[in-house]
Order: sequence, then C-alpha cells, then structure tokens
Amino acid sequence: MKYVSTRGEAAPLSFMQTLLHGLAPDGGLYLPESYPRLDARAIARFSGRPYAEVAEAVIAPFVEDEIERGALRAMIEDAYASFRHGAVAPLVQLEPGLFTLELFHGPTLAFKDLAMQLLARLVDHALKARGQRATIVGATSGDTGAAAIEAFAGLSQVDVVILYPHGRVSEVQRRQMTTSGAANVHVVALEGSFDDAQGAVKALFANRALREETGLAGVNSINFARVLAQTVYYFTSAVALGAPGRAASFVVPTGNFGDVFAGWIAKRMGLPVERLVIATNANDILPRALSCGAYEIGVSLATQSPSMDIQVSSNFERLLFEAHGRDAAAVRRKMAQLAQSRAFALDPGPLEAIRAEFDAFSVDEAQTTAEIARVYAESAYVVDPHTAVGVAAARREAQARGTQVPLIALGTAHAAKFPDAIEAAIGIRPPLPAHMRRLMDADERVTILPNDQREIERFVRAASRASVAHASAQAAS
Ligand SMILES: *Cc1c(COP(=O)(O)O)cnc(C)c1O
Repeated sequence: MKYVSTRGEAAPLSFMQTLLHGLAPDGGLYLPESYPRLDARAIARFSGRPYAEVAEAVIAPFVEDEIERGALRAMIEDAYASFRHGAVAPLVQLEPGLFTLELFHGPTLAFKDLAMQLLARLVDHALKARGQRATIVGATSGDTGAAAIEAFAGLSQVDVVILYPHGRVSEVQRRQMTTSGAANVHVVALEGSFDDAQGAVKALFANRALREETGLAGVNSINFARVLAQTVYYFTSAVALGAPGRAASFVVPTGNFGDVFAGWIAKRMGLPVERLVIATNANDILPRALSCGAYEIGVSLATQSPSMDIQVSSNFERLLFEAHGRDAAAVRRKMAQLAQSRAFALDPGPLEAIRAEFDAFSVDEAQTTAEIARVYAESAYVVDPHTAVGVAAARREAQARGTQVPLIALGTAHAAKFPDAIEAAIGIRPPLPAHMRRLMDADERVTILPNDQREIERFVRAASRASVAHASAQAAS
C-alpha cells in the first residue's frame, strides 16, 4: 500500500515511511491510495472477539507485508494489554438507543492511549529495523502529550518534545506530562494557544535541515497510523450493537478531526455507519463550516473541555481531499487561501458530499455543565466535559434525525482528569484511580518558552540525541 499527500506534491511513501514522517514535505497529510474493504462476513466474525484480534484484522491490510504478521500481532497485543478493562473499549448504555463508548481505560485516562500505545511500538520497531534515532515532536491540547510521554518514555531510539499551551490544560493533564522523570522526555509550556503550538510543530517539519538532522517524527493525528488505530473501536462497538446487520451512528467530541475521520475510514472500509456527528465545544469552526460553507478561523476560546479548544482542525484537510474527489490541486488552493486570509469557502459539491455523511453541533459551556448533571441524575454515571459535549450533541442529533439506529457517543476521557468541571456540575470530585495518586505530589519538570520559532528550534536541537550524533558525524568527516 502506498500513501499519498493531500497536496499531491510529495512522493508517495510506504506505511513505515509515513509512520516516521508525519506531515508530508509539501505541507499535506498522508492518506492510503485506497481503502481496503472488509465484507459483511469478515465484519460479522468480529462479534465477541478480543479487541486486539479485531485491531489486527482492521490494521493489517494497511500495513501489508511491511511488518511481519507475527510481529504486528505481538505489538498490538502488547499495546492493549496495559488497559485496565478486559474489553479495552467497553460500551455503556445511558438510555434506550444512547450509548457511550469508554475510551479511557488506558494508562493516561483519555482515548489518545488507544492509538499512542500502538504508535510507540510501531515507531520503535521501525527505528530498530533501520538502526535510526528519531525525535518525536508533538503539540498537545493536553491529552496527546500525556499519552505520547507515557508511551515513548525511556525508549532508547527516541527523544520526545511536547509543546502545550501554557496555562491552558488541566492540572492533572499538566502533571501527567511534567512528572514523567524520563531523561528522553522534554516538555515545553508555550506562551500561546494550542493552534500556536500546532503551527510551531508544522513549521519544524517544514524546516528540512532540522527535520533531517533530528530525525523528526510526529505523533499528532497528522500521523496516519494514529488515525488508523482509532478506526478499530468503531468496528468493535458497532458490531457489539448488531453490525453488520444493523447500522449505528457515532457522535464524536472533536477538535483536530482525527477521531471522527477515523470513523469515516471505518465506513469506507465497509462498516455500516449511518451518520457521523461532529460535536464541538464553543470552538465551533466545524459546525459553522458545515452550516454555512465558510471555514473561518476564529479566536480560540478556553473551555472546560480543553482538548477540543482548537480552531485549525488539521485532519479536516483529509476530508476536504476526499470530498473533492482527491483533487490535490483544489486542496492546495483552499489551504493557500486559509494561510493567506484565515478562511476559505467550501465549494457546493464538496459541501454537499460532507453534509451527506456528517452532522455537526456546537455545545456551549452552560450546556456542557447541564449535560454532566443530567447524565448523573438520570443514569448515575459521571461523564467528563468532552464526553458531555458528545452526549449533548447526540440528543440534538436524535431530535434532528430520529432514533432508528443506536447512537454511540464516544467517551473520550475519564472524569477524574477534569475534577473542577465535574465538581461545578454535580458537587462531587471524582477521585483519580489508585495507580495515579502519586501524580499530585511528584516533582514537575517543564520549560516555559515564548511563541518564537527560533527558540523552539533551538530547544528541539538541544533535546535531540539524533542531532548530537549528526553533529559529531559531520565533525568527524
Ligand atoms: C484529543 C481529544 C478530543 C478531540 O479529538 P480529535 O481527534 O482531536 O478530534 C476529544 N476529547 C478528548 C478528551 C481528547 O483528548
């Protein structure tokens, strides 16, 4: 399988190459040249099978023979063995027709673990096979950074640099990043928003010299392997509710559009998905784009669901590419407009194509708090603020389109990551699981940096052992 850039001006790569590249050199995102199909019989066979087994069946057609099948299976089994629930991603019924999919039983209590635990093993495998080192960089609105640090800490081939927006993550999220203690982990509190951090990471990738010198690799959902790992739970959950014989709709708390795009891929692969519902907080660029056709970057607002405080939804470019019938020149035009005037208009055809599969709702702060309280009152269940945005959007979807198929709202984080928001809604502070209690008094290590690309580059070079090795090799030659 080859992987092509959404901007069409980068050479197609293999799976392993895209794994280590992240962003394409032309600024685009990689996608497989086609989507493998699973027929109804193959999907039906997932019923009752372990999560890792389904994951192997879904992921292997994208990897083909680039990784020996037994090695791939071992990495997948190992990745999900650390989860604290035997089902890995269990479904919980909230009401008739309304379910939440608990994606927070991994080591850092958010859905990012589902992809990151596997990604780290794949990257380590690829680097060892090539005898290379890499510098993993990532921008985070809180959860990606924690998941990446947990997954990559202590690995001999990699250094990790994570940038988060200073003062814009919850205390639990911050401490998960700053208390790792691993020598290969470097955490930056950037004086700016998440969009600034993501912009800085994209600029690092655009710097060819730095990219090669440090062996830069990305762990944001611009990395296709991450999105791919997330397609798996769409299969397991829909099958648990009767797929392929019965369709399901998914409601996805959305920021960077990686997770909901994974659902779109599951549908392309043959899973019967009725609707894909984009749920955002007050940062509503996607609902605005779907309702009026204008993708316009606004001001990033700080909310109680900080992992979705995002204006520039990177993975939307992937959908744009598909909605334009894979016309890379059209994507380049839209992205150039976006860079120049912070907005572009969706053309009528692609807009209709997107509306045919997606709905989108924005849920404000008061509605989020009210939803946490409602779910607790009606179902004695505590949802975190991100999941609450999803459940509130699910209710609107049911109103708009009826309830012929089950609605699955993705439960993207554990409530204990956001105790202040939960306490404000229901007067209860959800405790951290016992294995995480040490978090609140461990020593923190973090570097505060201004939003200045040169300073960020200097920091990345200093953190990168690949860069040190590169410099001494040059000195010796
Ligand atoms: C990252 C994150 C999201 C948003 O996911 P995207 O793939 O960026 O759309 C939602 N909820 C939580 C808890 C997250 O960590």
